[in-house]
Amino acid sequence: MRRPVDAPLTQDFGSGATAGVVANSNPNSGMGYYVYLYGNYQPDGHTGQDYGAASGSPVYAVTFGTVLHVGRLSGTYADNPWWLLPSFFGYGYVVDHGAFIGIYGHCLDGGSRVAVGQRVNEGQVLGPSGSTGASVNPHLHFEILRDGYVLNSRYFGRSNPEDLFKGSIEYAGQTTTPQEDELSAAEVKEIKDHINALLLSGYDWGGRKDNPGLIPHVLENQRLINVGLAENRKNFEALPTRVWWGTVVKRDGQEVAVIQDIATTGTEVRGQGEVLVEISESVSPEALAALVPEAQAEAFIDALRTRLEKKEDQSNG
Ligand SMILES: [Zn+2]
Repeated sequence: MRRPVDAPLTQDFGSGATAGVVANSNPNSGMGYYVYLYGNYQPDGHTGQDYGAASGSPVYAVTFGTVLHVGRLSGTYADNPWWLLPSFFGYGYVVDHGAFIGIYGHCLDGGSRVAVGQRVNEGQVLGPSGSTGASVNPHLHFEILRDGYVLNSRYFGRSNPEDLFKGSIEYAGQTTTPQEDELSAAEVKEIKDHINALLLSGYDWGGRKDNPGLIPHVLENQRLINVGLAENRKNFEALPTRVWWGTVVKRDGQEVAVIQDIATTGTEVRGQGEVLVEISESVSPEALAALVPEAQAEAFIDALRTRLEKKEDQSNG
């Protein structure tokens, strides 16, 4: 769940009741003037939240859903299923979010990024905000109709959207079965193999070499050891003592045996995160995959999923 626009709240739900306010044609008469223009449009108070968004700000779907309406409405409030007063609503979007309907009003006329019937993800841009309909200054008017709403009731059946953002309204996105529960053992293994291939040979992220992988370290280590073994003991003293991350080779007379052992028969390597793997020059990603602890693989899967979701959001945005 996210806010429908990145702008401060300027009018809360329930404020500015028009009941009992006398219509006044003077534009400086405040509520009286709005009643003059739109009638007793919010007898119990503001039916949604206002966000003081500059015209053209992206309006986001607060969670996933299906677009029910894009644009202006015609006729009277009774001609649409949500009792939206067309002259108040202006140009906007109505999205079925499952447990509630989201109404995004006073948007810019045009520039819509979605169509009726389209599925949208949380954070997907619906279109630019504006100042159409009953709006003096640019802002987004956002309101919700929760499941079981009764139009002919207080606030025309609207609920306080703030309850969404406080997390006190359950919606489908919260109860969807987590993806990890749907992964088969074969899929987990496939992901582990992929992760380990990345650990070995490195990977790029954001256009730069984020991690060179373990292979260059293995090769460089072997090179240093070969130099040491080919020379005499005096040269050997010049070898770096730190061969792997966190692995210090003791110089207590058994250097050659210890270091050669590291290079040829495999050693414990701290690679990415806390993964501990047995590694030698000939080890395959598949063999490594079997050594990754189950919990560690799950953590990688979560991290991978987060990245993929971010990528997906960006491509949708
Ligand atoms: Zn409003």
